[in-house]
Amino acid sequence: MKAHDGMYIGGQWRPAAGRERIEVRNPADEQILAEVPAGTAEDVDAAVRAARAALPGWAATAPAERAALIGALRDVLTARKKEIAETVTAELGSPLGFSEAVHVGSPIAVASSYAELAASYAFEERIGNSTVLLEPVGVVGAITPWNYPLHQVVAKVAPALAAGCTLVLKPAEDTPLTAQLFAEAVHEAGIPAGVFNLVTGTGPVAGQALAAHDGVDLVSFTGSTAVGRQIGATAGAAVKRVALELGGKSANVILPGADLPKAVAAGVGHVMNNSGQSCNALTRMLVHRDQYEEAVSLAAAAVAKYPTGDPREPGTRLGPVVNAKQHERVRGYIARGIEEGARLVAGGPDAPHAQGYFVAPTVFADVTPEMTIAQEEIFGPVLSILSYEDEEDALRIANGTVYGLGGAVWAADQETAAAFARRMDTGQVDINGGRFNVRAPFGGYKQSGVGRELGPHGLSEYLQTKSLQF
Ligand code: NAD
Repeated sequence: MKAHDGMYIGGQWRPAAGRERIEVRNPADEQILAEVPAGTAEDVDAAVRAARAALPGWAATAPAERAALIGALRDVLTARKKEIAETVTAELGSPLGFSEAVHVGSPIAVASSYAELAASYAFEERIGNSTVLLEPVGVVGAITPWNYPLHQVVAKVAPALAAGCTLVLKPAEDTPLTAQLFAEAVHEAGIPAGVFNLVTGTGPVAGQALAAHDGVDLVSFTGSTAVGRQIGATAGAAVKRVALELGGKSANVILPGADLPKAVAAGVGHVMNNSGQSCNALTRMLVHRDQYEEAVSLAAAAVAKYPTGDPREPGTRLGPVVNAKQHERVRGYIARGIEEGARLVAGGPDAPHAQGYFVAPTVFADVTPEMTIAQEEIFGPVLSILSYEDEEDALRIANGTVYGLGGAVWAADQETAAAFARRMDTGQVDINGGRFNVRAPFGGYKQSGVGRELGPHGLSEYLQTKSLQF
């Protein structure tokens, strides 16, 4: 597969400072797809300098012009949709249809929303005798995970560009090829040199150098809570702004009176999509004890529709997980669930194919709130079904983890579901199957993070205020 042997810095592809390489592997067949350079602190420094040099010009560019360039970027992504989707499928293993519709479709919608917002946002407001200016924070260090390789990038780059910030991106080791295609799209869209820069590399080397660089004003990180904690500490010590989008363990609460077959089928689909590698995946299904066995049977039937297969085949709905480490980790959690006494309804720890990092779609019943599989983020196609006694019990279980990113409530009517959702300690709740909204703030309560992405709330993360008194 095509790969650049360099970094995109200052509007051009430049040779890397070091000799180290990262091998990119196809998780469906374990074969090496390509190699990209592993950036060093020297590459990061060159990229940050380029971003700093471009900052005054970009910050001074009229919002309407920034909006037009974000629109041009959206158009390039749209024109290259098929190629990007194939690359996501090759390096992540996501089924091709999902790659096109979600992995590329969602970032196109996000870019579109910021093309509109950049043009319409009030970058100035009047408060009494003051005029408040909303100015770009400066140079952004963006560090992204592999689970949505384009969406996570666009969810940072588009609002940063709209705000007038410049950036250096360090994408995940497993999915650098999608990031390189994104850099090509930035170039093709005509975004000025130095406004966006890409350094591929490992977290502990390039990621760490970027998070700690003096020339970075804001670190925007999406990834695990463990790394987020370190990045928060580094940024705190330097009195630097930080945004953290971290892990989740979201609850899907099905209240009595809800459409049970619909709620269970949608809940199973939510966990199986992207092989369970969504930070807001609804991995804990909470069902009233009177409907519990019916829900378990419905879930067993629903999960049978997700056999694992080659992600390039049109009918495949469940591909592999991203890499060998995740393959071990997810199957380890399944074994742990069995050991701790959960009832295996579907799937299990055995790999369903001889080759590729596939995990059998797995459903556990009789899961209790304190079990490891009900507390820790698994990041695989594994659903836990828990039973509750009454609404208070359901709320206690739903709120009973360190995370608070997503969630869902199903009830007989929207009012009942929304009343329950108001009491949940979490950043997003889907009411009776409500759809993802690319303009609604996305981010976590508790250890799921600090700050919000998407829409106007996401834009404000990249702005700082200055008050002029008259
Ligand atoms: P990860 O934290 O290991 O890696 C994320 C990024 O951080 C990668 O680019 C990695 O190279 C970099 N990194 C690793 N160590 C670093 C360090 N010491 N300094 C600087 N950068 C470093 O996470 P992952 O395994 O790639 O992603 C999976 C995790 O991300 C899951 O926990 C998931 O829930 C979370 N996630 C959260 C969201 C969200 O929006 N809340 C979205 C997607 C993924």
